[in-house]
Amino acid sequence: MCPHFTKIMGNTMTTEETVSKPSNFIRDIIDEDLKSGKYTKIITRFPPEPNGYLHVGHAKSICLNYGIARDYNGEFHLRFDDTNPTKEEQEYIDSIKEDLKWLGCEWGEHEYYASNYFQQLYDWAVLMIEKGLAYVDDQTADEIRDTRGTLTEPGKNSPFRDRSIEENLDLFKRMKSGEFKNGEKVLRAKIDMASPNINMRDPVLYRILHEAHPRTGNAWCIYPMYDFTHGQSDAIEKITHSICTLEFQDHRPLYDWFIKVLPVPAEPHQYEFARLNLTYTVMSKRKLLRLVKDNKVNGWDDPRMPTISGMRRRGYPPEALHDFCERIGVAKANSTVDFSLLESSIRDNLNLHAPRFMGVIKPIKAVIENYPVGQHEYFDADNNPEDPNAGTRKVKFTREIYIDADDFMENPPKKYFRLSPGAEVRLKHAYYITCKEVIKDAQGNITELRCEYDPQSRGGSSPDGRRVKGTIQWVSAEDGVKAEIRLYDHLFTVENPDKVEDGKDFTDNINPDSLQVVTDAIVEPALAELEPGTTAQFIRLGYFCKDKDSKPDKPVFNRTISLKDGWAKTLAKS
Ligand code: ATP
Ligand code: MG
Repeated sequence: MCPHFTKIMGNTMTTEETVSKPSNFIRDIIDEDLKSGKYTKIITRFPPEPNGYLHVGHAKSICLNYGIARDYNGEFHLRFDDTNPTKEEQEYIDSIKEDLKWLGCEWGEHEYYASNYFQQLYDWAVLMIEKGLAYVDDQTADEIRDTRGTLTEPGKNSPFRDRSIEENLDLFKRMKSGEFKNGEKVLRAKIDMASPNINMRDPVLYRILHEAHPRTGNAWCIYPMYDFTHGQSDAIEKITHSICTLEFQDHRPLYDWFIKVLPVPAEPHQYEFARLNLTYTVMSKRKLLRLVKDNKVNGWDDPRMPTISGMRRRGYPPEALHDFCERIGVAKANSTVDFSLLESSIRDNLNLHAPRFMGVIKPIKAVIENYPVGQHEYFDADNNPEDPNAGTRKVKFTREIYIDADDFMENPPKKYFRLSPGAEVRLKHAYYITCKEVIKDAQGNITELRCEYDPQSRGGSSPDGRRVKGTIQWVSAEDGVKAEIRLYDHLFTVENPDKVEDGKDFTDNINPDSLQVVTDAIVEPALAELEPGTTAQFIRLGYFCKDKDSKPDKPVFNRTISLKDGWAKTLAKS
């Protein structure tokens, strides 16, 4: 059903046949339903509300729903639950579609909108009134809330609960025709104000909202509530397994009630699974919107955001997100997943697939005094030692090169294997060099290293078998390109940003150092030519994704991830 997805999965696994199907309790239920003949075709959906960009939690739901439809040769629907025109925008619809495509999910002709069902839902609401199962309530939102009762106390019946069917029909039609103002009236289901489940205490079905809708324009001024829409939309689309997160568990009796009292074409069953929570991040669209609106980040696709678009811009490969979703599995109890688990999926994938290049983030010039002025030569550098098919490229070597300031110490501790005065180091793909002299400016800052190379060590080994432990990367000063590098850290300083003292909120836990911009890094020219969106390894430094802000003479790279967890610590210690 989706060739692209198979191709994408094929990147991480050798052939389609070796793709192991994940097992989880929902798949067990589906296996049973197929065996018993309850269903012959499985239909799942991803039902986003277009009120924000998707985050990695949504990716979990997408992978689950899409993966099931794919593996059972079923059908996957993308349905926008667009019932609230005050918060929904076309921009969000477009971004959601782009994110799904990027994840490799194709929904084909199965793109649906709850707003397509507005007429049907309205007709069903009328039917409920006719059956004495719904009434128009004149109470204010506050009054309705205040009479709803609590977990231990029943609610109170509305004084309008026993209106006649005729009056209700008349009022509801007039609500629809725009006679009343926002909040003046609502339509409620007539169920049971004493139900132990608060969701069953005469929930609101329709509210008045004089607001244009992104898709239906001004056709409606009453809009169905999410709870009156979601289950029926599933039924209209004949979704077989309505999979959603645990917070909807208490809504299931209500959805089932609507399905029972209405002449719906199918009876989907809802199954709930645990939502994904990740350490060092928040995962609610409301909070993410706040970060965007308050300019705490640079838009929804800021590479520090847990949004799918942020992760794409950061350089996370879609296959790595699938791998992560498979690793975390599908559970019935909420928990928080360690961010490092996501990072290990990213690293595993990039290690196999990212091409290697050389770049220095803190350049210092090294002049190789015994290398003739004006001479240059090319070395063949492998593009990816993990992938023999990745080929090689030519790297230019010249008398003046840049190395990274972090690879030099004037007074090194013992067992320092990088460059220091009198010490010898291997330049990756090239020669051994020894530092002969350190040049400083008037303030004592190192401005240049004077070095010598061993012509015998061409290619990185010496005929006398001399041992050189350290290997460092370098870039020719002649054709190196200046680059901007954006180094990211967690957006929050604490594992659970939502845990705050009274009077504070999650934004108080924002990490002030989550973005560090380096404007004068130097990278090899091949990196400047990469397409934006490509993630490459800068050897010894980490993985970096070429950003869309790149200019032809000034590439910009986002650090996707360091090479190893705690790499910086290792460097500091050595
Ligand atoms: P949020 O609470 O982040 O705003 P939401 O539930 O309001 O998310 P929807 O657009 O309604 O967002 O979600 C679409 C689907 O994605 C729903 O089926 C929902 O259950 C699922 N989903 C949302 N957040 C997560 C999550 N963190 N983990 C797994 N699935 C999620
Ligand atoms: Mg929601």
